[in-house]
Amino acid sequence: MAAKNWETDKEIQYFRDYLRIPTVHPNPDYEPCVEFLKRQAEDLDIPIKVYHPLDKENPVVVLTWEGTEKEWPSILLNSHMDVVPVFPESWTHPPFGAAIDEEGRIFARGSQDMKCVGVQYLAAIRALKARGLRFRRTIHMSFVPDEELGGRKGMMPFVRSEEFKCLNIGFSLDEGIASPTSEFPVFYAERTSKGVIFKVSGPAGHGLLLMPNTAGEKLSYITNKMMEFRASQERRLKDNPELQIGDVTTINLTIVSGGVQSNVVPPLLTAVFEARLSLDLKVSDFKAYLANLCEEAGGGIEFEFHSNRRKEHIAPTATDESNPFWVAFKSATDELGLKTKLQVFPGGTDSRYIREVGIPALGFSPINNTPVLLHDHDEFLHAETYLRGVEIYEKVIEKLANVDN
Ligand SMILES: [Zn+2]
Repeated sequence: MAAKNWETDKEIQYFRDYLRIPTVHPNPDYEPCVEFLKRQAEDLDIPIKVYHPLDKENPVVVLTWEGTEKEWPSILLNSHMDVVPVFPESWTHPPFGAAIDEEGRIFARGSQDMKCVGVQYLAAIRALKARGLRFRRTIHMSFVPDEELGGRKGMMPFVRSEEFKCLNIGFSLDEGIASPTSEFPVFYAERTSKGVIFKVSGPAGHGLLLMPNTAGEKLSYITNKMMEFRASQERRLKDNPELQIGDVTTINLTIVSGGVQSNVVPPLLTAVFEARLSLDLKVSDFKAYLANLCEEAGGGIEFEFHSNRRKEHIAPTATDESNPFWVAFKSATDELGLKTKLQVFPGGTDSRYIREVGIPALGFSPINNTPVLLHDHDEFLHAETYLRGVEIYEKVIEKLANVDN
């Protein structure tokens, strides 16, 4: 590719400016982000509002481009402002420098996850407005804090607020993941995270005896069964090339604790398994399976979930004719000749809070032919990929915002 003067491209400059704001955990300061977005709103000549659904330190910023049909449900374009920590010594460029190399790669934390998407929305609106276009549905662009820590200070309280209800959202777009191939993944659902803590009790005594029903034997039974379950999911994934990691249940033993001394049989051992349940495994069935396991292992075992809030999976977003926003999204990507693949998101994004309140949501990042570097060292995005993504959003937004009511 001939070296282009990306540095002078206005949209690339905005992108790099945004990347240079270090909204990094554990103590992100969002104020410079809010200031950046205020300048963007001014440039776009659209209103901006700053909400604080939890506290002063965690603003939710919403820029709004009003449609001609003010009463129709609106389109939400969501992104998070926060990024995960960095190990600067492992980076070849400063992680908040947004350096651009000769090839056109822009290096920064957040270049893929997901400051790119946030400013691409803005760039797309800028281009659409410059073309003199206006759409039927109102478009809201939200910039939220705290996604990387689970959204408890951001999207979670925001979706429950009166302010959110007033936005009258009918459909939402949020982040996806970069794709190393030409294909673009589109996420319509998420697995349910259920960390399991087993507290395994048994008789205490001298380590030279052979007492029955010790905590160690019970824990061994449980661990074996959980690993058999894990192996069955590994096989499913291996035997069916159509399946992705988000389509199966994943289980990992992550914490084991207990005991005081080698010759003392402990009365209590604790084990924690990280479990992400696929959509075809009901949460209630998994719970029943675990309860049965505790009985089989010999009793005297308690288990609980890390987070007990969600009793069942959140309903996936429909990806058929019943969802006119899906039809519009698909027609945009088809017209652009993009290869898309529907997938279940393997982790969690803010889309789960949006789907939970009954709003259809898709996860999509217009990043293909790019190594997946979210949360990794040397996260980068090519300037051309960024600019192509803006064009993709122009088409997608145009279609979504003109969906019939
Ligand atoms: Zn993200």
